[in-house]
Amino acid sequence: MHEASLEEGRESRMKIHWADVIAEGLRGKPQVISTGITPSGPIHIGNMREILTGDAIFRALRDIGESVKFIYIADDFDPLRKRYPFLPESYEEYIGVPLSKIPDPEGCCENYAEHFLTPFLDSMEELGVTPEVFRAHECYERGLYLEAVKEALKRREEIARILEEVSKRKLPSSWSPFHPLCPKCGRISTTSVVSFDAMRETVEMRCECGEEATVSMKEGKLSWRVDWPARWKIFGVTVEPFGKDHATAGGSYDTGVRISKEIFGYEPPYPVVYEWIMLKGQGAMSSSKGVVIEISEMIKAIPEEVMRYMVMRVKPEKHIDFDPGLPILALVDEFEDARKRNTREYQLSDIGKKYPNAPFKHIVTAVQIAKDLDGVMEVLRRGGYEEDREAVQRIAEKARYWLKRFAPHDVKFEIQKSLPESVKNLSPEVKKALKILAERIKYGEWEAERIHREIYAVAEELNIKAPKVFQAIYLSILNKKSGPRAGWFLMSLGREFVIKRLQEASS
Ligand SMILES: [Zn+2]
Ligand SMILES: [Zn+2]
Repeated sequence: MHEASLEEGRESRMKIHWADVIAEGLRGKPQVISTGITPSGPIHIGNMREILTGDAIFRALRDIGESVKFIYIADDFDPLRKRYPFLPESYEEYIGVPLSKIPDPEGCCENYAEHFLTPFLDSMEELGVTPEVFRAHECYERGLYLEAVKEALKRREEIARILEEVSKRKLPSSWSPFHPLCPKCGRISTTSVVSFDAMRETVEMRCECGEEATVSMKEGKLSWRVDWPARWKIFGVTVEPFGKDHATAGGSYDTGVRISKEIFGYEPPYPVVYEWIMLKGQGAMSSSKGVVIEISEMIKAIPEEVMRYMVMRVKPEKHIDFDPGLPILALVDEFEDARKRNTREYQLSDIGKKYPNAPFKHIVTAVQIAKDLDGVMEVLRRGGYEEDREAVQRIAEKARYWLKRFAPHDVKFEIQKSLPESVKNLSPEVKKALKILAERIKYGEWEAERIHREIYAVAEELNIKAPKVFQAIYLSILNKKSGPRAGWFLMSLGREFVIKRLQEASS
């Protein structure tokens, strides 16, 4: 072996996973990893990156024996910013009202925020992510933010100066770090603070609706740029992954750092900035633009481990291209290879669920050959895979859903119950090839590679181009000119069926 390649081998063995690098740097004191989201619409694959990045660091810290807590804060006290395309016209009236105080647009959950949060948290559990979940509206109502609200109101001018200095934007003279909830119209985005009483913990507020009232400091919320550093201190946050939109110069992390240190006297968390997940052909996923694939839908189609792997395999600072069509099968392949080699990326993707030995793409074929689970098990057995029933059941259901929802047309097929009419048009030479092939594979080992080789051998002997023979095989069985890799496909259909069909086609 060349010295250079030895060197490369050593390097790849020594490559440390990004989550382990971060964990090493944090060693030595208890850590709190915080993630969060505003549940204002369907929570999509793009939103998944934050919580999975947090989970990777959480696992990496646990693996080196460090004490670590993982929390998730749902910003359900944020107001509805606009009527999104998926909302009925009547929701115009809720603009400015906190998400936790708006009725569920579909009427099934406790409120608007829960409607989007519930399927997301359920999906996260499926993905093996189980942080401690907090809802912002409860945190405020329970008084967790009380001291921070008081401090922010007292030091309003200092905070305004920091915001202006760092973000280079002028604030109106009436600016307040606190937005009271209007007791009359229920909005939080149309109110302003007239004065406050730190002893009584109340504020005098005024609303665009005309209301003037005294409300508790528990009834309202800090503006985002103050809320974020306040929560670092309240929850003792030491690590936080966040999207690159917060990481721009003068952005909310930069202002957060100064407010955290200068106002709340708290050392800001270690930042882990992540890039977007781009949906093929449509750019960054965004609920407000309607460019989304919901996580709850994707995990019906793709093994949960693979969704984790997609995030684990790429450093947070690199964007991820996501295409749920054919390209996702290549990602599943890569995952299955990582699983065999037990790579660190695989370990961080494993969630202790049973996984079949047969590749996902075989299962995609198997579910199209067989109607039920017994049939799928049988097809896999013929293909040389003795499988765990439970493992196959989970993955086979996903394969069926992927076919229905995301697979391109040319991946789909149906075994024809009888010989298709179109076979009549095959040339005599091609029919002869099918006849000889049927003879050759009647005896001997029933094995994919061998069947595949025989197809080439027969084509060569008869001086026909191999693709013609392949096409004839697919035509005889699927009434299509293409299909899954022939050797494995024929093997999993079973010898008896294949021989009979080839003989019929050649007569
Ligand atoms: Zn609902
Ligand atoms: Zn009002």
